[in-house]
Amino acid sequence: MTSTDLTPPVVDLWPLAEAARPGEAGEDLVALLAAICDVESVSGDESALADAVEVLLRAQPHLEVLRDGNAVVARTHLGRDQRVVFAGHLDTVPLTTPPNLPTRLVEGESGLELWGRGTVDMKPGVAVMLALAAELGRPGVEPAHDVTWIFYDQEEVEAVRNGLGRLARHHPELLAGDFAIVGEPSDAGIEGGCNGTIRVEVSTRGVTAHSARAWVGVNAIHLAAPILGRLAAYQPREVAVDGLVYRESLGAVGIRGGVATNVIPDSCVVTVNYRFAPSLSPAAAENHLRDLFDGYDVVVTDVARGARPGLDAPIAAAFTAAVEAATGVSPRPKYGWTDVARFAELGIPAVNFGPGDPLLAHKDDEHVPVAQLARCRDALRAWLLGRS
Ligand SMILES: [Zn+2]
Repeated sequence: MTSTDLTPPVVDLWPLAEAARPGEAGEDLVALLAAICDVESVSGDESALADAVEVLLRAQPHLEVLRDGNAVVARTHLGRDQRVVFAGHLDTVPLTTPPNLPTRLVEGESGLELWGRGTVDMKPGVAVMLALAAELGRPGVEPAHDVTWIFYDQEEVEAVRNGLGRLARHHPELLAGDFAIVGEPSDAGIEGGCNGTIRVEVSTRGVTAHSARAWVGVNAIHLAAPILGRLAAYQPREVAVDGLVYRESLGAVGIRGGVATNVIPDSCVVTVNYRFAPSLSPAAAENHLRDLFDGYDVVVTDVARGARPGLDAPIAAAFTAAVEAATGVSPRPKYGWTDVARFAELGIPAVNFGPGDPLLAHKDDEHVPVAQLARCRDALRAWLLGRS
């Protein structure tokens, strides 16, 4: 290595993926997951992990591999009638202080568990995808559908930076398929569709004054009390969509006001986030908020449509039946917004299916029961090989 060459060597995931073969108890899949987690990849800093993923995939003669920024896409070309698209994001939310990496294996309440940043959201899904991508398409292990494997960057940040969105703009053909599976944590069961999300700022206007003579002004923070009252009294709805029941949620996620500790403030802004059922359009969700905050200034700052579960499409129904048979778990609605919505917008039915408890995503103590890794891998493998 020369003194100017400061690039660290690419982490070699290949021996781990090669070892993570079906029939094993799953230890090698755990080793692969640990290696993937131990390459830090906080949003915007995914290049080392993307390099490792790219090197692994390029070593597979049965895959065509493309790279766009820190997104890597690999495809089989077996001439099948239908194509399944898998998508998994490589980034994580920031580490804790002190850092929750490297990962550690712990004997926990649910058996052996891997702890550390990314062990739930969503490197287990990435590990399962990599192990299957390396295997399926080799001679003698050919899947019943063509497969596209998408590993992408910057899912955990603002929608404009999202790597899957960038791929859709740069190479829309790479997202094409008949069914999409997003490997977000779903406790190894199928979670269909997702709620939409909208953020609004609800604001009040007052009149500034010296706090010693408050009667001269109008306190904008006090004017916000009815806004908070309406939020506290709000009963979230439950909405049935295509056979799954979506529970909505609505609440304040921020409040700001005040310029100094001796000034009556003339402005107060309450930021509200509404997670709405996938049967509602973004416009309908906005109208709902405008009705709720009638009389106040309401400004939309961010909105993303939800996704209907789409489980009535034949290929989705077949997948659902296969996973139900393998795991005994029926499909559930997804509450958080995920990139299944992006596929839904392209007219591709999409579900979330991956190891890890979604309630632990982004938490300091995120961890996954390792038994879920092999369970997801085996269910996907059997379905893709037409053996379930
Ligand atoms: Zn995620």
